[in-house]
Amino acid sequence: MKLPIIAVIGRPNVGKSTLVNRIAGDQQAIVHDEPGITRDRTYRPGFWQDRTFQIVDTGGIVFDDREEFIPLIREQAAIALAEAAVGIFVVDGQAGLSAADQEIVEWLRQQNVPIVLAVNKCESLGQGYAQAAEFWELGMGEPFPISAIHGSGTGDLLDKVIEYLPVITDVEEDTTINVAIIGRPNVGKSSLLNALTGEQRAIVSPISGTTRDAIDTIIKRNDQQYRLIDTAGIRRKKNVDYGAEFFSINRAFKAIRRSDVVLFVIDVIDGVTEQDLKLAGRIIDEGRAVIIIANKWDAIEKDTYTINQYRKELQARLFFMEWAEMLFISAQTGQRVNKILDLVDKAAESHRRRVSTAVINEVIQEAVSWHSPPTSRQGKQGRIYYGTQVRSQPPTISLFVNDPKRFSDSYRRYIEKQFRQDLGFHGTPIKLVWRGKRVRDAERGSPNRATKV
Ligand code: GDP
Ligand code: GDP
Repeated sequence: MKLPIIAVIGRPNVGKSTLVNRIAGDQQAIVHDEPGITRDRTYRPGFWQDRTFQIVDTGGIVFDDREEFIPLIREQAAIALAEAAVGIFVVDGQAGLSAADQEIVEWLRQQNVPIVLAVNKCESLGQGYAQAAEFWELGMGEPFPISAIHGSGTGDLLDKVIEYLPVITDVEEDTTINVAIIGRPNVGKSSLLNALTGEQRAIVSPISGTTRDAIDTIIKRNDQQYRLIDTAGIRRKKNVDYGAEFFSINRAFKAIRRSDVVLFVIDVIDGVTEQDLKLAGRIIDEGRAVIIIANKWDAIEKDTYTINQYRKELQARLFFMEWAEMLFISAQTGQRVNKILDLVDKAAESHRRRVSTAVINEVIQEAVSWHSPPTSRQGKQGRIYYGTQVRSQPPTISLFVNDPKRFSDSYRRYIEKQFRQDLGFHGTPIKLVWRGKRVRDAERGSPNRATKV
């Protein structure tokens, strides 16, 4: 079973994120005073009594649509609610009942989710009940006076909330594959998203990044669910011009970080540009699985040899992701678009895979007996004692050796290639961490850095 979700809703500044912080118990989420838009919307785990759940802070709900993003936030909040087992509707007890709260009640009636009403900022208990009483008028049932800042009243609130939550015994992993569509402007990301979602039933899902960073689209194929993270989608969806800043490379970086698999889109007419290389470098640094999507293939005049020529050229430029599959597609005509999700499945599986220590050591033994480690001029030979997978996403294997310096780059590449071939890793980077006896401590921390011993 997946953890049930509690969605926290209400207008801006009533204390939603303070309440989420209080319930989720740590101080990671950011509280600040801008109305909901720029805040990271993350699902945070929490528990109360015997119930475990995830709690999500939705953006502040406003019905003044002078700003284009406002209906978008409302749409996202509606989807968060649709996923939720129960909603906590937060109002401000100090401000008292407002017309904006009434509007939210109207809107909530269309959402069809049980709602518990929390009247926040009721610091004083005696007064608190008086403050809360006025909210009976909303017709949302009993108003619970709370102070999110001090924590008072939240226990009674949660007692009520968890009545709507199932008791969970075993928790299922989230098997959704997060797929980021990354590329320079105009390479065809939006067209690709349309082509991918065209035949599937797609829903726009709650945004866990910030509203203006990316739009997530969920598609399903067979039993597999994919979350398509698309940085170009907002422009497409709302026709809003967010200006040059919209193309900030940071948006792409954030989307990469949230993904398992990156669809790295390049324009075959332009080939691999400097900007492409910059994005590619970041994808590698983040350790993501990759499929290289060479788009606009329809626009190339070709004969039988063309595809191989192009493939060679692109591979030469992107030699550092030689393990990535490359697909020549046309987002416009749909050519080969139907092959993408198969490759995504394969890459995601490899990216997540865990291999037992026994199997890893078989591969090492086999590799070493075909091709023994180099010997230094002093006649000392490199030795690999054993290896073990220390992490997945991407697969990261520690190799315990006598002295990492004795293993040349070419030998390291050879070993990596053996792992790839023998274990059938597709489309994912593999990180090998070469650990000598003396330098072990130096290698804690990021696998990116640790490979450079
Ligand atoms: P959100 O926009 O609904 O997420 O609201 P925030 O959690 O960001 O809080 C908005 C403001 O209300 C902040 O200045 C908080 O410090 C304040 N606030 C939140 N909870 C309480 C509370 O229980 N009592 C009082 N007095 N202020 C609160
Ligand atoms: P984005 O900025 O990466 O989202 O790119 P768009 O999807 O908006 O596409 C940019 C331009 O390239 C548009 O004019 C598209 O019509 C065009 N385009 C996208 N995909 C293809 C394709 O497969 N073939 C051709 N010939 N043009 C394409």
